[in-house]
Amino acid sequence: MTARVIDGKAFAEKVRGQVAEGVAALKAEHGITPGLAVVLVGEDPASQVYVRNKGRQTLEAGMQSFEHKLDVTTSEEDLLALVEQLNADPAVHGILVQLPLPDHIDSDKVINSIDPAKDVDGFHISNVGLLGTGQKSMVPCTPLGCLMMLREELGSLSGKDAVVIGRSNIVGKPMAQLLLGDSCTVTIAHSRTKDLAGTVRRADIVVAAVGRPNMVPGDWIKPGATVIDVGINRVDAPEKGEGKTRLVGDVDYASAAEVAGAITPVPGGVGPMTIACLLANTLTACCRANNLPEPQGLTA
Ligand code: NAD
Repeated sequence: MTARVIDGKAFAEKVRGQVAEGVAALKAEHGITPGLAVVLVGEDPASQVYVRNKGRQTLEAGMQSFEHKLDVTTSEEDLLALVEQLNADPAVHGILVQLPLPDHIDSDKVINSIDPAKDVDGFHISNVGLLGTGQKSMVPCTPLGCLMMLREELGSLSGKDAVVIGRSNIVGKPMAQLLLGDSCTVTIAHSRTKDLAGTVRRADIVVAAVGRPNMVPGDWIKPGATVIDVGINRVDAPEKGEGKTRLVGDVDYASAAEVAGAITPVPGGVGPMTIACLLANTLTACCRANNLPEPQGLTA
């Protein structure tokens, strides 16, 4: 079998198009423009690229983008004061504080100071609790993107055996909650799981979120399974020239694609969906703030 490739780039474009339509309708019918504020502390190069991309795509979707770039020496107190100001600003419907924060700042304290209704990353403890109890919440962007791709690929997920590899707060745990919400039988595997190969072999759906290049070989995959590879790992690529690198996922794509029914590539799979879902969450937050119907198909 050769797996169908789930094109995250194309799907993300479709989601961004739906968001842009929703934004245009909000403007035309209600005179409201959704706004996303992104806060970056310090000059971490990867974070700077993320923030730039988020700002550009926010504007492309017709939303307002507010970027706050703070010096690495910014105090926790000053950052909390900025979050408070954004919480109170009616033009801001979504707030994202780019992680990681410098060591002298307590990330949990900052994240939990964001108004949960504006917490478009879905990391606030209230949103974690709402998701865990199956209530309406803001859903973390990367797992939401994975869920959208799974629904698009498989239709109903009800009754499927799903294995999530990784138990982080930003990917693994919320992913498992979302799959449970769609009535999968969910196993969360992690670094202490005894028989990872056997566990993965039983799964109709595999979501790998570990951060170890090519750790899931094709012979762990059940024939016909749907494989979502969240991992982003940079490895040496001598075939491209001396000192060159390339990105690979947590799944050994070549061997897994021989067995799986469908699979996301890296790059071009889950990655592009994350920012698309951030925009979707901002639109959702704006609709909720204004007591308007939420956009269809853009939430969990
Ligand atoms: P993390 O380091 O917080 O968590 C990794 C998890 O993997 C841990 O729960 C750990 O128990 C588990 N693990 C480690 N070694 C293992 C092993 N040998 N077997 C089984 N499980 C093992 O990482 P994270 O933030 O969840 O990110 C995971 C990966 O996803 C990273 O590569 C990251 O870059 C990527 N990521 C991608 C996106 C995206 O937009 N595509 C977003 C977030 C994270």
